[in-house]
Amino acid sequence: MWDGGLMKNGKKIIIAVPHGFCAGVRRALETVEKALELYGKPVYVRHEIVHNEYIVDALSEKGVVFLEHISRLPKKAHLVFSAHGVSPEIEDDAGKRGLDIIDATCPLVKKIHLQAVSYSAKGYAIIIIGHRKHPEVVGTAGQVDESLIVESLKDVGKLPEIAQKRIACLTQTTLSADDTRDIICAIKKKFRGRKIAVLNDICYATQNRQNAVKTLARKCDAVFIIGSENSSNANRLREVAEKAGAKAFLISGEKGVPPNALKGLNVIGISAGASTPEILISKFITFLNKMGWHDIETIGTEEKKIVFKLPARFAGE
Ligand code: SF4
Repeated sequence: MWDGGLMKNGKKIIIAVPHGFCAGVRRALETVEKALELYGKPVYVRHEIVHNEYIVDALSEKGVVFLEHISRLPKKAHLVFSAHGVSPEIEDDAGKRGLDIIDATCPLVKKIHLQAVSYSAKGYAIIIIGHRKHPEVVGTAGQVDESLIVESLKDVGKLPEIAQKRIACLTQTTLSADDTRDIICAIKKKFRGRKIAVLNDICYATQNRQNAVKTLARKCDAVFIIGSENSSNANRLREVAEKAGAKAFLISGEKGVPPNALKGLNVIGISAGASTPEILISKFITFLNKMGWHDIETIGTEEKKIVFKLPARFAGE
């Protein structure tokens, strides 16, 4: 395996840059913290604010209540929409129930909602590439009366005839860039002759983390992606590492390392999903230190720091 550095015992850790929190996750977490600070507990959050169990547990301890259904909430309860966004149906329902809505939807997801509405109004058929059950896709699909969802290349073959002459392809923000490219090619082929607007909505954070993991994987015996099982972008990072030729594991933290997974490894790569807090990476590194991995280096380039404005009530507007 790669030996570009000087390793005392042949064991080395390489950390992908960038990894971990993106601007949308930071904004969502700060929004919940501000709501707690201003209104006290309980603050309700529809769905997990971001897909990370460590964060959900930590916020629950502070008095945040996570729920999927809002029907039992008392009037005026403070309800935060998660970073993944919601459909207008849920927003309307919350409004009718007199809840105090605080929208922590990532602005990049909001942008996709607007694209769906705008292209649909112009008469385009809407195809959403993404995971059918993921809350972001459910929220985007809910913006329009009709849409088709494509999860994989296989699904393209199953798409029905589309009456409209124009088609808009929207994507979930956290997909694999490579897989999505293939799916879009297949859609173009299937609907040859139609005008197809491709709106590449895979976000900057997803792209940057995937690019870094691709480079990382080529230099490692195994790559550990730290993130929760339900985190779409963390799962994609694991797949990207595997496709690039490394053994790849998705672990929630050091306790999730499968038995014998470290056996025979010299160079271990680490990255983390956009919703994984830095503390979990530090803990994993400490664990590896104890297991004999001491040399640490990074690979990749820091991304430009992006900051999304908080919801107006917390941004002092
Ligand atoms: S991964 Fe991308 S779309 Fe999702 S919250 Fe982060 S910046 Fe927003």
